[in-house]
Amino acid sequence: MGGFDSRPGGTNLGPGAGSDSSGGPGKRTLTEQLTVQPKGDATGEAADAGGDAGTAAAASGESSAKKGTTDPAALRKQFDATPESDVDKLCRLVAQRFSLKVTSTSDSSGAPWDKAGLRRCWDVLEMLPPEHVSKNRDLKSLTRYRSGSIEGWASDSGEAAIGYGAGNNIDTETEVGAFTDASDPLRGKNIFDATVRHEIGHRVDAGVGGPGYTASDDGGGWQTWDGSAGMAERIVTASGGKISSWPDATEKTAIIRCLQKVIDDRVPDEINDRLEALAFLSHHATDAAQQAKLTDIKADNAVSALRVAFSHQGPWDLPTGGVKLGDRIFQESYDWPQWVSYKQSARAKKFSRYQFRAPGEWFAEAYATYYQPPGAKGALMAGLDDKTKTWFDSKVDPQHGAGGTTPPGTSGGASTPTGGATSTPSGGGTSAPAGGAATPARGGGGGA
Ligand SMILES: [Zn+2]
Repeated sequence: MGGFDSRPGGTNLGPGAGSDSSGGPGKRTLTEQLTVQPKGDATGEAADAGGDAGTAAAASGESSAKKGTTDPAALRKQFDATPESDVDKLCRLVAQRFSLKVTSTSDSSGAPWDKAGLRRCWDVLEMLPPEHVSKNRDLKSLTRYRSGSIEGWASDSGEAAIGYGAGNNIDTETEVGAFTDASDPLRGKNIFDATVRHEIGHRVDAGVGGPGYTASDDGGGWQTWDGSAGMAERIVTASGGKISSWPDATEKTAIIRCLQKVIDDRVPDEINDRLEALAFLSHHATDAAQQAKLTDIKADNAVSALRVAFSHQGPWDLPTGGVKLGDRIFQESYDWPQWVSYKQSARAKKFSRYQFRAPGEWFAEAYATYYQPPGAKGALMAGLDDKTKTWFDSKVDPQHGAGGTTPPGTSGGASTPTGGATSTPSGGGTSAPAGGAATPARGGGGGA
């Protein structure tokens, strides 16, 4: 549940845009990855990128080629037997098991992995379909960055980044409200695990037709605009209020231009001041007719909607999502900016509040929910959003919903987790106090 998604893949795919072209039919097979190019891509990339990010991946390629060990259970045994201090080897083993580059993020926030984090990642990734992980050409690396809370981001370049810090207990921290309401399926679940699934979900989205589903009514009816141009006009029209039928065309143009400037400048707190400064309202304080016009403008739902629609305000956290225009919520999903609208009625079957930030977050949260253990895949969707469960069964999950959320006997019985706590039963009674849960860091940095 990436409070810090910078550029989640699949969220900003306009028609024909994005990484869809790389998704295509020819997903790389596991065989290709391991025999033709054991970690080849990852190694090459790391070399291009330079820095010590390349070390682990390059070494893992070597290791893979030398030892030729691909048996998951054997790799897990090696992992469990490796001391915590040997982070390079631990990364190498995860890299080898899942055909990923495993390292720290390449920017200044990058932090070395530790065994506890890698072990949880292993357990989560093993539970997911190989088509979404080791065979997924849209997923190239699993990285760590330093963060005070458990969070993540994913990039169109194939990176899934996980953030956590020394103050986090990744084995016990559960979602207690930063991203969910009390009745949402993701409430009370291990945050780290859900975050890993969420970020992998971003890298699965485009390849399984997520953007098409989220554009459909069953998936929220999302519309996306990269940039803010024309948003005021759209919002005024969707509202169907007094501004849209304003009798004086010149005044109407001035109002819309004013609102568009508020949108471009991202300043909802200045709406009143800016409206009052409109030339044709310059005497509103003393002129009753002008005052009446100003009142009409402010009473339009288009204006009410804009007051709470900006990404730094987190409108998706509001009980209503914001002010409905027609049957839709309009909001700025990211500050780069991206604007979206969705059908407000879709919130009635939400998995988390964060799901309603953007279509990509909608998919990623649905993905995290579908593969949430224990039990059957999609168990948490059943009875809440059956249509989405059916779509996941048929279009997202390669096993069509079979197999459950327990890893298929690969390392499961064989491995003995070393050190402390292993997995926390979902919904465990001990929800971490808000101290660790942290406020979601909204608004992303400028990811790749
Ligand atoms: Zn996300």
